Amino acid sequence: MTSVALVNTCHPERSAAKSKDLRLFLPLLVLLLTATNLHAAAPARFNGQAAFALTQQFLNVAPKRYLGSPGHAKAEAFIKDHFKPEIAKGHFETDSFSASTPAGLMDMRNYIVKYPGKKDGVIVIASHYETNYPLRDIGFVGANDGACTTALLIEIGNYLRTHPPQGYSVWLVFDDGEEAVQSWSNSDSLYGTRHLAAKWSQDGTLKKIKAFMVADMIGDKDLNIDKDANSTPWLLDLLQQAAKNTGHSSYVFKNQTAVEDDHLPFQQRGVPVLDIIDMDYGPHTMTLPDGYHHTAFDTIDKISAHSLQIAGDLFLEMIRLIDQHG
Ligand SMILES: [Zn+2]
Repeated sequence: MTSVALVNTCHPERSAAKSKDLRLFLPLLVLLLTATNLHAAAPARFNGQAAFALTQQFLNVAPKRYLGSPGHAKAEAFIKDHFKPEIAKGHFETDSFSASTPAGLMDMRNYIVKYPGKKDGVIVIASHYETNYPLRDIGFVGANDGACTTALLIEIGNYLRTHPPQGYSVWLVFDDGEEAVQSWSNSDSLYGTRHLAAKWSQDGTLKKIKAFMVADMIGDKDLNIDKDANSTPWLLDLLQQAAKNTGHSSYVFKNQTAVEDDHLPFQQRGVPVLDIIDMDYGPHTMTLPDGYHHTAFDTIDKISAHSLQIAGDLFLEMIRLIDQHG
């Protein structure tokens, strides 16, 4: 913003022609270059447009990302490709495991990207990245269901790289196997987060988690983030506050739901959890009773950079409010 305003008011040819006095022109040029460089190095806020562009790239590279598919491997490579600085620093963890599913043993992987903060404790933001296995033959790409929130987390990572957490550490979790392999049940769903919650319970990590937040289906052009009864009340209150602080109050809590999602394995172990999700996706008709959810219509044209901007603003504000909460 600043650099645009300076370009408009400091037209080089006119300044030079009018005054020929370089003492006036040079400091402006230096200021302009400094502002431009600062802007390039450290985006002032979360960039919804960039998150949308990343969603498109992710869908181009790995449209079908169901377990065991070549697209699933490409999705994993895409995620890793965007965290080279964190990999170099040893701040990127791969959690590989095999899960017993109705389709047999399947290899899965969670990725954890760590941005160390200054206070003891961790805020987690998670999204699943794979596509629904039972829908593998219908051209399902999950633009809203998995793709845009993977992109959202990558873009939050881009922000945190240049704006390291000042309070608690922030970890991004790209989890696998959220979807049921056959049909949703306690044992056939949430494979990645169930594995991670058990692992972190055993190694003591769970005690450090101040909040486990999930991003799911929040690219929807018509965004209405649900008030989820399975989320922790004080985190729901903070989300309402975050929406107020960012000017996004009209996008939250129109609908009340109780969602079964990646937050449940952590909720069951006593971790404060929040699912930031919009279950109401597209018009509900006779042929599409659940809207675009889990249909071949869940494509990039149904989501928007604006909704991703709102989601990104909310997550960054949540980090700030959770830090203050203590
Ligand atoms: Zn799904």
